Amino acid sequence: MSPSATPEPLSFTIARSGHPASDEQRAAILANPGFGKSFTDHMVLATWTRGQGWHDAKVTAYGPLQLLPSAAVLHYAQEIFEGLKAYRHADGSVWSFRPEANAERMQRSARRLALPSLSVEDFVESLRALVTVDQDWVPAAGTGETSLYLRPFMFASEAFLGVRPADVVTYSVIASPAGAYFSGGLKPVTLWISSSYARAGAGGTGAAKCGGNYASSLAGQLEGIEHGCDQAVFLDSATQEYIEELGGMNLFFVTRDGRLVTPELTGTILEGVTRSSILELGKELGLDPEERRIPIEEWKEGARSGDIVEIFACGTAAVITPVGELRWEGGSVDHRRGGPEIGEVTRTVRERLLDIQYGRAEDVHGWLTRLV
Ligand SMILES: *Cc1c(COP(=O)(O)O)cnc(C)c1O
Repeated sequence: MSPSATPEPLSFTIARSGHPASDEQRAAILANPGFGKSFTDHMVLATWTRGQGWHDAKVTAYGPLQLLPSAAVLHYAQEIFEGLKAYRHADGSVWSFRPEANAERMQRSARRLALPSLSVEDFVESLRALVTVDQDWVPAAGTGETSLYLRPFMFASEAFLGVRPADVVTYSVIASPAGAYFSGGLKPVTLWISSSYARAGAGGTGAAKCGGNYASSLAGQLEGIEHGCDQAVFLDSATQEYIEELGGMNLFFVTRDGRLVTPELTGTILEGVTRSSILELGKELGLDPEERRIPIEEWKEGARSGDIVEIFACGTAAVITPVGELRWEGGSVDHRRGGPEIGEVTRTVRERLLDIQYGRAEDVHGWLTRLV
């Protein structure tokens, strides 16, 4: 095949598991799925080798990977991932939300981590192949905020300790039934500003969805937890003056005069699909969406003066999470000042998004893609 030829779309062979969960076992898991604890009966695997491209795409039994201790990913962290959900609608059909956006983001992440590109078509087909085989694992409609969380990922599986982009790469998708992310119901989180740790820096991998960013966020998260907070909020590493995001969620502010403000993408912030969807929905709700640099001082002052009336974090897993108090070394501020726990805009945007995802509102944006 000449390098310029468009590769044929991958076709996923199916080898069904010889030891699937029984109906009773699956029902017990689906009754209380939690998050990221249980996995379906199958997974997707595909291999890329330099020269040959992607091949051997299959749906096979979920189980341990064959990986030599010298596999490059274990040493140099050449790895990227995605996260999206499959939602059951009232008529039994199963849909995902803007999977093409996740596919394109995975291509951008791949470029940054010097991994091979997977086409949007192959990405979406890999989800469809897995969810079709494991469709009984998609929680029933009307059970609240339950879904099947899909985790596509790609890593350097070549057994080689030299430092260069791997010549053998594995792509996989696993799936995990998910209940509401916050088991105790929606309640505001307390955030910690870490002044010792950053998650990303200029020219680094902050805009790519890679495991390394999460590894570098953990010490900051721990520091936050030690100070009684739920999560850390990271500032730009160059000046420590501007708000970036949480370890795995983007941030939004609602101002008293009706603006919906989020940090602009500077190359060190991950471009969330939820974030970009909320910017669209905000316009339709008559809010004035604004992407710009936001000084941390603006948060502190706005919370004190009442100029900031709501703050929320967003991402696929938890959808929208209200933010309450902000703490840092030697201080704290709380914009709620005795007002409601969850603001009107936070609640409305959250409902809008969930109504679209679960097929309860018309999908006027064309955001849904049917999987089954
Ligand atoms: C995945 C992720 C998000 C949220 O992205 P969504 O596409 O909305 O799920 C935000 N920040 C970071 C660092 C992430 O890895």
